[in-house]
Amino acid sequence: MRDPVWKGDGKDLRYAIIGAGMSGILAAIKLIERGERNFTVFEKGTDLGGTWRDNSYPGLTCDTPSHAYSYSFALNPQWSSYYASGPEIHEYFRKVATERGVLPHIRYQSEVTSCVFDEESATWRIGLTDGGTAEVDVVYAASGVLHHPNVPALPGLESFAGKAFHSARWDDTAVLDGTRVGVIGCGSTGIQIVNALSSRSARVVHFQRSPQWIMPVPQFPYTPEQQAEFARDPAKIEAIRHDPVYWEAVFRFTDGVTDFNSPQIAEIEEICRRNLEDSVRDPVLREKLRPNYRAACKRLIYSWEYYECVQRPAVFVETGGIERIEPAGVRMKDGTLHELDVLVLATGFKADQVIRPATCTGRDGLALDDFWAVRPTAHYAVSLPGFPNFFMLNGPTGPVGNFPLIDIAEMQWGYLEQLLEPVRQGKARSVEPTREAFDAYEARRIEAAKKTIFGSGCTSWYLDKTGIPATWPWSYQDFARAMEKPVLSEFRYSA
Ligand code: NAP
Repeated sequence: MRDPVWKGDGKDLRYAIIGAGMSGILAAIKLIERGERNFTVFEKGTDLGGTWRDNSYPGLTCDTPSHAYSYSFALNPQWSSYYASGPEIHEYFRKVATERGVLPHIRYQSEVTSCVFDEESATWRIGLTDGGTAEVDVVYAASGVLHHPNVPALPGLESFAGKAFHSARWDDTAVLDGTRVGVIGCGSTGIQIVNALSSRSARVVHFQRSPQWIMPVPQFPYTPEQQAEFARDPAKIEAIRHDPVYWEAVFRFTDGVTDFNSPQIAEIEEICRRNLEDSVRDPVLREKLRPNYRAACKRLIYSWEYYECVQRPAVFVETGGIERIEPAGVRMKDGTLHELDVLVLATGFKADQVIRPATCTGRDGLALDDFWAVRPTAHYAVSLPGFPNFFMLNGPTGPVGNFPLIDIAEMQWGYLEQLLEPVRQGKARSVEPTREAFDAYEARRIEAAKKTIFGSGCTSWYLDKTGIPATWPWSYQDFARAMEKPVLSEFRYSA
């Protein structure tokens, strides 16, 4: 990379973007749009797409409507259905990144192993697994939080005679048609896999340590005529993106999850309960599928088909405890052996890792591991005191739930652009939130997080190690408002 070049009263900054997923591609496009060329997207994999590259399991679908799960500047008339499939979304990101000139900036198989801030030059030195290093002025960490598979320590797992793998490391050689498949886990991933296999495999055993509440949603294809109409008239797409019914549902949802005593969450619970009562005919199965915690405490499953699929003859729901894995299958604590050919671990991710195991050292030797000793967090989910010019996109404590995360990333980008403007103009060398502002913000965030439904008594990847939700605890609208303009008095610009 070139040294920073001073031009007039500003300078060409050098940028590193960590991760070529949805947020990293967004950052690259936005830099290109502004005429920046001095940046690299460091990508650990061999392809772009982040979560849509890592996850290729059968049934993979985004549970945000397709037209809402699109960059605002790259609408896609071709979406095949209301909820798009994983491969289709992956292809969308590939296409947008190609058309917008991002590809030459991506350096594949270059996992960032370290970021060290040099006070004197106000630069970040980046260490990479490929042995290279880079020196930059600004880092955008866009690694996502759900990319380190959580592989449970199940006794005997390595002894399984068939194929066993994590859902985000799908083994394409595994035979699924007409075989016996076990799926451990019933988050969004496990549910979608069971849906897909329920009509393909001879037997599907769905191991559920904690059953999930299911929110019924519609799914329908877009016809070729509709797609042609979308291409002719993008206002039709905008109408779907801004559909008041959809946004009303999002706002009700966000008002509900941020206050576990709200009438909105009671309404969500009632819809989920009714869905269970009305959809599952067998009372024994119905009770097996009934969660013992409040709806939306764990991330709510949006599905138009799970209750139908789970009642297909091939599917068996197992809610007992797993004793161990044996060569032939899964042995339960009650002695039952489920004989299996394939075992899928849909057991989630280590969400607290974020960009780690990369080490990150900020001002005065401050280690990110120490800063994040209790929980990964950031000022308004995007910046960190002691880590100048180091920003997160869709990082920890951002809004989670059933929101369009692309919107979140675009809002974060707009906020960060304003924050960085004085640095780009050469008026300051770096910017970071003050420790006081961050501490005050974090104290408010934690207090509010305790009132969210996520903290109402269940386990989930939303919780930090003290059991407090590591999430944005206010509404979606509050987040949008916060991202409109940074409060500059909360930041320190260094000359
Ligand atoms: P997850 O929601 O964290 O679910 C993991 C599942 O594995 C849970 O049912 C968990 O049970 C179970 N589990 C973990 N360890 C286990 C063990 N040792 N024994 C038995 N069961 C075990 O993970 P995920 O389903 O991969 O989803 C993660 C997130 O990815 C979602 O919350 C969502 O944000 C995102 N996602 C989104 C979509 C989409 O459609 N947009 C699709 C897939 C994923 P317990 O609940 O008892 O811990």
